[in-house]
Amino acid sequence: MVGTRYLDPVESDATLPEAVDLVVIGAGMIGVAAAYAAAKAGHSVALLEKGVVAGEQSSRNWGWCRVLNRDEREIPLMQHSMALWDSLPAEIGADMGFRRAGLTYVTKDPAQLAGWEAWLEKARPYQPTARMIDAAEARRRTPGNEQDWIGGVVSPHDGRAEPAKAAPTLARAARGLGVSLHQNCAVRGLDTTGGRISGVFTEKGRIRCQSVVLAGGAWASMFLRRHGIDMPQSSVHSTVFATTPAKVQVSPGPLLTPDFILTPLPDGGYLVAAKARGRLELTPAGIRYARQFLPALRANWKLVELRFGRSFFEGPDAWHGRWSFDAPTVFERMRVLDPAPKMSIIEPSLREIVAAYPELAGIQAARIWAGWIDSTPDAVPVISPVEALPGLVVAAGFSGHGFGIGPGAGRLAADLATGAPCIVDPAPFTLKRFAPGAPRAQGRAGI
Ligand SMILES: Cc1cc2nc3c(=O)[nH]c(=O)nc-3n(C[C@H](O)[C@H](O)[C@H](O)COP(=O)(O)OP(=O)(O)OC[C@H]3O[C@@H](n4cnc5c(N)ncnc54)[C@H](O)[C@@H]3O)c2cc1C
Repeated sequence: MVGTRYLDPVESDATLPEAVDLVVIGAGMIGVAAAYAAAKAGHSVALLEKGVVAGEQSSRNWGWCRVLNRDEREIPLMQHSMALWDSLPAEIGADMGFRRAGLTYVTKDPAQLAGWEAWLEKARPYQPTARMIDAAEARRRTPGNEQDWIGGVVSPHDGRAEPAKAAPTLARAARGLGVSLHQNCAVRGLDTTGGRISGVFTEKGRIRCQSVVLAGGAWASMFLRRHGIDMPQSSVHSTVFATTPAKVQVSPGPLLTPDFILTPLPDGGYLVAAKARGRLELTPAGIRYARQFLPALRANWKLVELRFGRSFFEGPDAWHGRWSFDAPTVFERMRVLDPAPKMSIIEPSLREIVAAYPELAGIQAARIWAGWIDSTPDAVPVISPVEALPGLVVAAGFSGHGFGIGPGAGRLAADLATGAPCIVDPAPFTLKRFAPGAPRAQGRAGI
């Protein structure tokens, strides 16, 4: 019997506050980091989660924290996040599982190698610590699996944090700073007075506030649409599994090869992401934003399989129309977005891994799960005030790489919501870039 992922539970507060400076909607990595940053700056904060802290994407990811191969627009914010991953454990007196074990990518494909080289060239102004490696070093870095690699790229200062405990640990620290945390507390909608935010309607009552950070992950676009605000967002299904502990560690840090992606885990097992493609299901949201996502789909069509599935009828990309704030909503009906994993990836992936590393023979899948990755058309998040609704800041659409950048992204969202000087220029993350007629930039999707 294969189990599912671990998740560290966090206690909620008993009583909903009547009024706070800032309400944060969603207690994934982004919402928790935003709540922590705003509370640290002296603001009163309520953090509201329809399910449990990190119940959705933030506990389902690989945990990679990387500057390597990121869209150039994200690099300054990611570098700030890496500094926070370093400093937060001492600041909060707790371990979030962050280790700078380095990333190694190897390949046999000249086009992939050229892509990494082009990224390094573009990233040069930010002084990345990543560097290209030749064929001989690629073989040295994959002992036991020395194939005819033509080279690769290594990023010795990137690393990994533990998704099962990073957001929960930071949420506990946020509570320590006075954040009022409420799980199983869906926000049904926003209250406005004179055209600006004046509160939120939750399933447990209303809270007055001056600002809201919407860190609702895959649900953000749907939530905004109810208030007449458009944000193109669509989700991709992805499965991952963790193995039983192995006798040998074949790589000190995460390793990407053409056949599989292996992440060593603290218990001696590995997290495995198969080379199988992510699944994109046909949904009302997908149809609505098809034109905007088409360039990304064309560029990455080999990486996704298109399907018709349940997400047409349920979940964040389904059609929900207008709902009332006085009655249970879809957010209460689906407390945790928990898609079924694709079990069929296990056997072929294990076969590939053992063929490459015979000394790993005998490892089994111990836990398997899946997540919906929320994406924007240019694979760069929206971290932005909403001009049409003063007091509202959106922080969503992290496009498969929001965990590592989470600490900095949450801080930036908190800065925008509280009027503090921004830690980095927020312009690249503006929602306005998706407005009709705005110039489009193709983003850098993938790992
Ligand atoms: C398989 C997989 C692998 C990944 N690997 C990596 C990786 O290695 N590195 C990396 O950086 N990123 C990775 N990611 C992406 C990363 O997990 C996400 O980008 C990140 O966790 C997004 O955080 P979030 O807080 O925006 O969203 P989430 O973690 O999804 O949190 C949003 C929360 O908002 C809540 N919510 C929504 N609507 C409401 C409402 N109305 N009221 C109350 N609560 C609400 C939801 O219940 C949810 O808990 C991966 C993702 C997946 C699925």
